[in-house]
Amino acid sequence: MKHAKKILVTQSYLPPLTDYVSYLKTLWGTKWLTNNGALVQELEQKLADYLGVKHVLYLSNGTIAIQLALKALGITGEVITTPFTYVATTTSILWENCTPVFVDIDPKTYCLDPKKIEAAITPKTQAIMPVHVYGYPCDVEAIEHIAKKHHLRVIYDAAHAFGTKVNGRSVLSYGDVSSLSFHATKLFHTIEGGAVATNDDALAKKMAYYRSFGHVGDDYYMMGINAKNSEFHAAMGLTIFPKVPAIIKHRKALVELYDTILDGVLFRPEISKNVIYNYAYYPVLFTEESVLLKVKAALEAHNIIPRRYFYPSLNTLSYLGTSQSCPVSEDIARRVLCLPLFYDLKKSEVQKIAKLVRKNL
Ligand SMILES: *Cc1c(COP(=O)(O)O)cnc(C)c1O
Repeated sequence: MKHAKKILVTQSYLPPLTDYVSYLKTLWGTKWLTNNGALVQELEQKLADYLGVKHVLYLSNGTIAIQLALKALGITGEVITTPFTYVATTTSILWENCTPVFVDIDPKTYCLDPKKIEAAITPKTQAIMPVHVYGYPCDVEAIEHIAKKHHLRVIYDAAHAFGTKVNGRSVLSYGDVSSLSFHATKLFHTIEGGAVATNDDALAKKMAYYRSFGHVGDDYYMMGINAKNSEFHAAMGLTIFPKVPAIIKHRKALVELYDTILDGVLFRPEISKNVIYNYAYYPVLFTEESVLLKVKAALEAHNIIPRRYFYPSLNTLSYLGTSQSCPVSEDIARRVLCLPLFYDLKKSEVQKIAKLVRKNL
């Protein structure tokens, strides 16, 4: 039996193979495959320029990026964070033996609600870890104000925010450090990969030591871990990097097409005027979970596989051992669905998906 092609919520972008191979050829010449090689350094420089931050350290993934940031900032206590994100945000905090303290989200932006942060601050609070969820920036000014007032560090999980700008600035220029993920499903990817971005010279230096066992020259300078990434992964990044403007442009056109068909029938997160968005995801919010389930089933019957990003709300994770209530996040998590959005998705497919959604409301 012939299986119909499934349209998944995302599909990795692959550049022309010959472009990738031409980078690989240099490696057969140098035989330098990892350990801060030339391609890693070139990628870091290009990303720092494009993302508007002083230092970008290329890492093996976006999860170790969060862990490295927590470790380098000496965070050992409570971290105020959002329950509406991918599970890696929470588990990285737990893995570093810190305590996640969940603060509810803003019902308009789905990002950590700054108005609710101060009530959660205790003498043990050391950091705030907000997430620019779906690539929509958090209220960075309000968070900066609170962090300054209470002497807290800010680590942004910017896994979705590659290329997003706010107030004419890179969203990555806010906070002490931002983490990025270049996993194959992300807007810009290096198969596996991630980075930390910071404007702080001393912090960048410390994270660079941590990335490579704390090993400097002949000296084991400090305790570290292996968070490096290879020349092969950097080569994929360098091959995809020049395509990023075209990738974002095409995603924008698809999003606008979804919008024209779904406008007025579904809720969407609000995006303020001072934001240049990267079109990383297409989340839609239904009036009730039952409607979401009906639409999801209807799409699946047509081999279209959307995802319940982000579900469940992470404050309800069974292994937390505590119960913290975040009613807004729990409610939105039950009602939000991400529709397919990726570079190779066709306009005719977007039309088909959006019409199916409309029909099943
Ligand atoms: C993808 C993702 C991560 C983890 O990144 P990996 O590169 O897969 O380790 C962390 N946080 C968020 C919000 C993500 O979406």
